[in-house]
Order: sequence, then structure tokens, then C-alpha cells
Amino acid sequence: MASINGICKNCGSLVVAYDRDEMCECLFCDCVFPISEAVEIAKNPGNYTFPNEPQPKREGNKRYTTVPVFPDPVPAAIKQAESLTTTKKKEKNPYEVSADDVKAPAKTVWTIAGISLGIILLVVAIFLPIYLIRQGRKDAISESVGQVFTTAGYAVNTASTDGYPVGYSITGSSNNVLQVVTSTNELSEDQVRDTYEAFAALRAEKSGYKTDNASQYYGDVRVEIIAGSEKYIIRTDKQTEKSTVTVIPLASELT
Ligand SMILES: [Zn+2]
Repeated sequence: MASINGICKNCGSLVVAYDRDEMCECLFCDCVFPISEAVEIAKNPGNYTFPNEPQPKREGNKRYTTVPVFPDPVPAAIKQAESLTTTKKKEKNPYEVSADDVKAPAKTVWTIAGISLGIILLVVAIFLPIYLIRQGRKDAISESVGQVFTTAGYAVNTASTDGYPVGYSITGSSNNVLQVVTSTNELSEDQVRDTYEAFAALRAEKSGYKTDNASQYYGDVRVEIIAGSEKYIIRTDKQTEKSTVTVIPLASELT
């Protein structure tokens, strides 16, 4: 398909058409006429007078193939911009991985799911027995905890509400923390120490700790008792292996 050059018979502008077309259309004046005429004029344009008559407008409905020689710069710029954007879309960086590209095959998905489930089961397998053992011992201690307060000689409500005891709580990774609330207004240091000793003994008995193994028997045992306007804390210092009682006025805790 070759292009043919000619000159518009109406306005004298350059006209370029394909050789398969019979008619050509001038881009400048919209004149439609046979290509053969345009070619003839182009051979000797000086002998031809251009009438420059207004031609019927055919906006956006060109019926003849023409090659623009001096195209309007604005639509040309728009076309160029369009081609650039479409090129950008098509020419994707082959090394760039977008989320659309990452579609893991079903096998991989199931493998990951399986590994995750395996990890969960492993964690449960390790920690469930520890939890159950601790819980079992806690229940055993709770069953007899009343004797601790009887020994120390003050009243604690050992009844439960919604599954939680009212007057005390046992926490810690080895049931080593006993927190107590008593209606007795004031406690002596002996009473605090008696509580501590009785609780350590009960905890050791229910957990199978031996009396001669002090680090296990006392472990990180800590007893906190709230009585009246004071909080008593007793625990054993690991360096000196001596238990100390600390008394904190509750008002100071609030400020
Ligand atoms: Zn023309």
C-alpha cells in the first residue's frame, strides 16, 4: 500500500492518499475529489487556479483514507499522549511483582495452612499439659486454702461467686501468688508470716514439692493481704533467703 501525493484542487494544500483509494479528502478544506485530479494538479500547480470555496463539513466522519501531512498539532498531541499512556500500561516492568501476580497455587496454600495448624497443635501439646497440671494443683490448693487462714487466725471469705473465690485469688505460673482480702482490720507481722508459711506448705504438698528443696518449696511464693487500710506483702529474698514483710498504706497506693 503506497501513498500518493497530490494537491488539493480547492485550496492548494498538499494531499496524501493511499493508491487503493479513488477519492481523497483535503484535511484543510474538507474538499473531497478524485486522487487522479490531485496528482494532475501536483504536476504543474502554477497553471491551476484554486477556487477556495467552502466545503461541506464532515466532522469526525471521514469517508476517505488520508495521511495527514500538516496535521493539527492539538489532536496529534492528544493521540501521542494516548499512545504513551497505553504503552505505559502494556510495558510493565517484568521484574516488578504486583499482588495480582502472586496467586499461590492451592498446594502451597494448603501446605501453609497445614504448617500453621501444626504449629498451633504443637503449642497446645506443649502448654496444655502444663496448664492442666497447674490448674489441677490450683484446685487442690483452693480446696484446702481455708486452713491457711485458720492457722493465721483471721477471717477470709472462701466462698465462690461466678466461679471466683470472693476473699482470695491464687495466680502465678506455679500458683505462687496468694492475694487475700480480710475483714479483719489489722494484722500482726506474725499473722502475715503464718499465712506465708501455711500457704507455702499447702502449695508444696499439693504440687509434690519437697520440704528440703527450698527453692522449689518457697519458689517465688508471694502473699499479699489487704486488711483495713493496709496492704501486707511478704516474700523471700532470693539472695538472703530471708522472708520480709512490707506494709503499704493503701491510701498511698491510690496517689
Ligand atoms: Zn483543500
